[in-house]
Amino acid sequence: MPATNLDLFVIGAGSGGVRAARIAAGHGARVMIAEEYRYGGTCVIRGCVPKKLLVLASRFADEFDLAGSFGWSLDRPRFDWSALIAAKDREISRLEGIYRRNLEGAGVTTVDSRALLEDAHTVRLLGTGETVRAERILIATGGRPFRPQIPGAELAITSNEIFHLTELPESMIIEGGGFIAVEFGCLLARLGVRVTLVYRGEQILRGFDDDLRKHLADAMRADGIEVLTGTVIESIEAVTPGGAHRVRLSGAGVREAGLVMLATGRVPNTAGLGLERAGVQVDTRGAILVDGQSQTSAANIWAVGDVTDRIALTPVAIREGHAFADTVFGNQPWSCDHTNVPMAVFSTPEIGTVGLSEARAREQFSRVKIFRTSFRPMAAVLSDSTEKMLMKLVVDADTDRVLGVHVCGPDAAEMIQMAAIAVKMGATKRQFDDTVALHPSAAEELVTMRTPVA
Ligand code: NDP
Repeated sequence: MPATNLDLFVIGAGSGGVRAARIAAGHGARVMIAEEYRYGGTCVIRGCVPKKLLVLASRFADEFDLAGSFGWSLDRPRFDWSALIAAKDREISRLEGIYRRNLEGAGVTTVDSRALLEDAHTVRLLGTGETVRAERILIATGGRPFRPQIPGAELAITSNEIFHLTELPESMIIEGGGFIAVEFGCLLARLGVRVTLVYRGEQILRGFDDDLRKHLADAMRADGIEVLTGTVIESIEAVTPGGAHRVRLSGAGVREAGLVMLATGRVPNTAGLGLERAGVQVDTRGAILVDGQSQTSAANIWAVGDVTDRIALTPVAIREGHAFADTVFGNQPWSCDHTNVPMAVFSTPEIGTVGLSEARAREQFSRVKIFRTSFRPMAAVLSDSTEKMLMKLVVDADTDRVLGVHVCGPDAAEMIQMAAIAVKMGATKRQFDDTVALHPSAAEELVTMRTPVA
């Protein structure tokens, strides 16, 4: 017979699950959380955090290039991948420890085991075979990389494995045109890998503003990355075991590459969880169906984060988890607002964006004004770098409200976090214009664009 009587059992100790567990425990709930891999989830262990560390490492290449134009002379810098990975691993272990300690400090019982649903109130811990009963259950199991069914797909790596490579290959083919493909394409190229990016659509980063997409694709090509659009990988073969790969591309012949990475999206992690036994419904992709309060089709079960396939971003999962815990255990009902969520793509140059793209705005509003500027960032003006920064405002001509802000260039993410406050508050273009510029900065261009270009 199940021994424990819990108020909440959380499956998955990533961003959403951990926040929900801690807040619920703070409201006095008896909470247990189970994690089958490492505490911290995708973001901390093999996503946002380690990725950003690799991005920062890669950007030294640009700094070294620019340093000469500011009077510095450097010996030829050398890069050691294994030293970077070791440093990254130390930091990730430190963060994992913090996640675990914070949970325990909040009074949450942590379990290192895969957990499956036996029914709507019972969870089986595979580690011990024990069953646990809980009044309420939260599913926060995240997502996992999706591999298209092509011959040889198992020879390719995904974003799970890239963080553990012992050495970098000379050349790499990356399939995909989304966040992960673009971010890793840019960072690996700066670390000395010859990168070919293969994308099935017409332009990378579907869904982003078209001007940003083109600007970034042009910049990537200028940086020596081969970007092949309208192309897919048809098959992958190993030329030598553990060595080069022969990759057949649609319409682009056969290439050899040291490594192939599939960055073809992620799917919700629901397989084998026992959802049907608990009455939890999923969609055709396996994502858990939830309402605006993250409640599933089973009245005592909720789900937050990537497993629900809403907006697959850490801060969104955290808010969904927090809202669930406050609402259900704290008697303070609120829900996560999924509009005007700022996003960054940590490519180099970086993208920051909030609100509607021009194309989306034109679908939803009858009269749209576009303000756009492109200029050389100050760090580049003394060098022969042709790098350009792009900024764009999308405005509703009837109300003057700023519907979207889009930036591609250095520090775009930092700017957009701030601009997102204004967009969320419903700021008008006039209010942007009334804000005194901060000079000299790149961000000042956001408040000094006077004449619409469309
Ligand atoms: P994305 O959805 O961003 O990109 C997936 C890419 O793979 C798309 O270009 C898609 O093409 C392509 N694709 C999908 N299926 C196939 C197929 N069968 N054959 C060929 N190409 C295919 O997913 P990612 O894996 O890059 O990232 C997952 C999510 O994680 C992101 O959506 C984002 O929410 C989050 N993330 C956020 C980051 C950040 O905040 N900076 C960084 C990394 C991830 P198409 O466009 O035509 O559908």
